[in-house]
Amino acid sequence: AKFVEFIDVEKNYGNFHAVRRLNLSIGRGEFLTFLGPSGSGKTTTLNMLAGFERPSQGVITLDGKSVDRLPPYERNIGMVFQNYALFPHMSVADNVAFPLSVRKAPKAEIGPRVIRALEMVKLERFKDRKPTQLSGGQQQRVALARALVFQPTLVLMDEPLGALDKKLREHMQIELKQIHEMLGVTIVYVTHDQSEALTMSDRVAIFESGNIAQIGTPDALYNEP
Ligand code: ADP
Ligand code: ADP
Repeated sequence: AKFVEFIDVEKNYGNFHAVRRLNLSIGRGEFLTFLGPSGSGKTTTLNMLAGFERPSQGVITLDGKSVDRLPPYERNIGMVFQNYALFPHMSVADNVAFPLSVRKAPKAEIGPRVIRALEMVKLERFKDRKPTQLSGGQQQRVALARALVFQPTLVLMDEPLGALDKKLREHMQIELKQIHEMLGVTIVYVTHDQSEALTMSDRVAIFESGNIAQIGTPDALYNEP
């Protein structure tokens, strides 16, 4: 089986079908983007993979095991959201250390791993600041470091660059792609920005009304007749 499998997955809210009969396989190390208009089911699909929401029907497996049955910390999934969700009262370093602390990582390991993660996003010199003393782009890089610090096998990103201006967004797209290549981590990325999807992704899944209308490499989707 592939690293991630969605098998006939549905999500209903009352009579409303947010996700319909979705089938999808994701390979280890892949950068897959969910592209589509608002309300097409991208976030719902991502949240089911994260284990935040349960499918109404069907199964999602991670490494052959049903996501439902994995305790949260065994899912080993990093998350990045549009609104950073940093702890404002904690320093940058403490924010990044948080996932290691809750996983009870040995104290001696935490410091060096936090520094490595901050180096990766080029923020080691800001480690003692509070998030409010950073720009939006820097805050999002802290959120990225926090999502990567426990060496997740899968990182889910929901419109992570949505709050940034165009120039910064383009810069961060390049950084994200570099981090993906360096770590070889699997990334599932949600956006409604087509150029963003095409720049970064190995494959793009185009969502329409709760299902995947098309899926393929950027080349196959946009350059072939
Ligand atoms: P997208 O991420 O593509 O914008 P979502 O997955 O957030 O789409 O939402 C898909 C549809 O499901 C939308 O019409 C949304 O209003 C609906 N929806 C999402 N969450 C809920 C909920 N908790 N209760 C009712 N409807 C919801
Ligand atoms: P290496 O080739 O040194 O085993 P990688 O090429 O996977 O490591 O990563 C490059 C650098 O990033 C290394 O210094 C590694 O320790 C660090 N690194 C890898 N994964 C993570 C992570 N999830 N969080 C923080 N640092 C990481």
